[in-house]
Amino acid sequence: MGSIFAITNQKGGVGKTTTSVNLAAALADYGRKVLLIDLDPQGNASTGCGLDKDDIALTSYEVIMTEAKAADAIIRPDNLSFDVIPTNSDLTAAEVQLLEVKLREHRLRLALESTRDLYDYILIDCPPSLSMLTVNALVASKGVLIPIQCEYYALEGLSSLLKTIERIKQRANPGLEITGLLRTMFDARNNLANQVSRQLINHFQGKVFHSIIPRNVRLAEAPSHGLPVINYDRTSRGSIAYMALASELMRRDKKAA
Ligand code: ADP
Ligand code: MG
Repeated sequence: MGSIFAITNQKGGVGKTTTSVNLAAALADYGRKVLLIDLDPQGNASTGCGLDKDDIALTSYEVIMTEAKAADAIIRPDNLSFDVIPTNSDLTAAEVQLLEVKLREHRLRLALESTRDLYDYILIDCPPSLSMLTVNALVASKGVLIPIQCEYYALEGLSSLLKTIERIKQRANPGLEITGLLRTMFDARNNLANQVSRQLINHFQGKVFHSIIPRNVRLAEAPSHGLPVINYDRTSRGSIAYMALASELMRRDKKAA
């Protein structure tokens, strides 16, 4: 059965989407079957894979809110070696509509039941909030990846995310684990970044991924070409870092199996 991971942090701009797209591409590069689900109405993961947000037949909105099958919403973007369930601003409506439906926290989990066996890894790019969409991602997942930018306010808000994860473990998804905290946009010359990094390790110890994602301009440029960084500049530091993360995740996932 495929391992489902939610990539989440309610802070915006910490590298969730960059991690989702590039980790998906890196896992696929290792020969794994991968599905990336865009669950942020901003649709940045979809455009980052070269998809046109205004030209999508079925989005993650239909998968969650209607009887549409997840399998029918899956697209294989040109030139990429993994699948995507894309989205666009239609998904905004789901935040409110979810409050009114039965099994509202379980919609995504149920929608993926018949699809998850087709993949080794399913990654869910979450919106920058602890909304019902994020709750759906956490209920559907076996693990959570938390990208963290090592800046002054980095740890602020982390406790509410951890509380949400704990609450979902108790109520809806007992197997849910924090798979790892990922240091993103890291600049080793920056004292504060190193200080926050040490705090993270003191507090979370083995939960912090050894792999670190450096600040790298190729990572920032790649989405404007609609490509993961390994397809855009394979030898860049960003590309090498996400390949290392993919390999670490595969090792951790085996241990957790
Ligand atoms: P989120 O999904 O958490 O809002 P993004 O992944 O969209 O965050 O990243 C926010 C911005 O930072 C984007 O413009 C992205 O291209 C850029 N970015 C993300 N990670 C890196 C990195 N390691 N190096 C340089 N730029 C990055
Ligand atoms: Mg994003």
